[in-house]
Amino acid sequence: MRAAIVLALAFGTASAFVTRPFNAGIRAAPRTAAAAPRMAASIDLSGKTAFIAGVADSTGYGWAIAKALADAGATVTVGTWPPVLQIFQKSLDNGKFAEDSILSDGSTMEIAKVYPLDAVFDTAEDVPEETKNNKRYAGLDGYSISEVAKAVEADYGKIDILVHSLANGPEVVKPLLETSRNGYLMASSASAYSFVSLVQKFGPIMNEGGAALSLTYIASERVIPGYGGGMSSAKAQLESDTRTLAWEAGRAHGIRVNTISAGPLKSRAASAIGEKGTKSFIEYAIDYSKANSPLARDLYSDDVGASALFMCSPLAVGVTGVTMYVDNGLHAMGLAVDSAAMQMDA
Ligand code: NAD
Repeated sequence: MRAAIVLALAFGTASAFVTRPFNAGIRAAPRTAAAAPRMAASIDLSGKTAFIAGVADSTGYGWAIAKALADAGATVTVGTWPPVLQIFQKSLDNGKFAEDSILSDGSTMEIAKVYPLDAVFDTAEDVPEETKNNKRYAGLDGYSISEVAKAVEADYGKIDILVHSLANGPEVVKPLLETSRNGYLMASSASAYSFVSLVQKFGPIMNEGGAALSLTYIASERVIPGYGGGMSSAKAQLESDTRTLAWEAGRAHGIRVNTISAGPLKSRAASAIGEKGTKSFIEYAIDYSKANSPLARDLYSDDVGASALFMCSPLAVGVTGVTMYVDNGLHAMGLAVDSAAMQMDA
């Protein structure tokens, strides 16, 4: 059996690590007069099922989150966009991701099931003929959000963790001043409403104590030139919706709803954002982040995976409605310390 992830939050006298049921919450180990303060907890998600929407290769945040959850013992299922499903499935089958699938105990992550999912469609009736006849959707059906939720329920019953790790904005390379109404609304539909719809459709098939999580970006609240096409607007919606959904789904289903504002990562989606000169948008963003963040280190997808694991685990039992930054602290800065304007006279 896979080892549960054990977190020792402070050190004192030894006591047994306790694995708690998903809903049970985490309490500090009892303190005795003689013992130094100590809190130990483990994250064991065995017996829990996760559905992660937006996984199609091993470079993105969805994969890292899948791996972190699998490492803690969860059964991992994913939803993959039909146009990239075949290549993803082929790559999985021929071992292309073998190295990126190794868990902390040396075993290999298993993706229990890959569901075709197009998150711009809520029901089968929403799928236009043009999409049905598109060769990238050939032979597929049941990929709207409500159909996928039904399929997951038929396969697994109730699930515990729902992750939204997807975004799409056809005009992302255009400044907002040049973005069409259609491009703007498509960015919102694919990148923000898709989360609302996922929580709507999956909420009823989630166990109380479960968690829904999405991925957002600082462009929602600060100007990031180059992140266009209404994608910044979509991320602002996603963060606002996180708060409202936390309230509504908390009361309706007893689940938590949070979002992680992640730092820049050279994923497939981010690589398509655009380029200026010799570097792509995401390469600039990564270099800028390292030069100006409080933590001058590379940001790895696994850093977000680890925080996502925490957010989806009982350790975060009381956390809902938050935007949590996992960006080496860049969000806290108000000044670019590597700016030419900051070069002081000797
Ligand atoms: P990624 O390419 O791994 O993930 C994006 C996924 O969205 C892809 O698998 C793609 O197939 C899928 N997708 C696109 N349209 C879809 C649709 N209609 N239905 C279903 N799936 C669809 O890239 P990533 O950068 O890891 O993105 C994951 C999330 O992280 C996104 O929400 C993104 O905005 C967010 N994020 C990324 C960065 C970054 O720098 N990469 C920073 C902050 C937040």
